[in-house]
Amino acid sequence: MILLGLQLKPHGRNCGFQGHPTHHCSCTPMQIQRYRSRISGPPIDRIDIQIEVPSVKYKELSAEHGGEHGDPIRERVNESRKVQAERFKKTKTKQY
Ligand SMILES: [Zn+2]
Repeated sequence: MILLGLQLKPHGRNCGFQGHPTHHCSCTPMQIQRYRSRISGPPIDRIDIQIEVPSVKYKELSAEHGGEHGDPIRERVNESRKVQAERFKKTKTKQY
């Protein structure tokens, strides 16, 4: 599995605020389409799941939320691996 992050930064005539929760995007639809065509193509087309996420304020991002620790996550990953191993048991698909 490969995870990639791409930040749509201001570039050329693109203001960089398209889809931003609080800033207004001043681009025309044509400018947005032109900008997106520059970051699409074969490499991007090979990525199965693409999700746009709005920007998060630094204060929110750096705040202490407690969050989830590694052990419950590890258990879920191990459980998923078991399900996959069972699913592909009778195939020649390699499991890593
Ligand atoms: Zn814009």
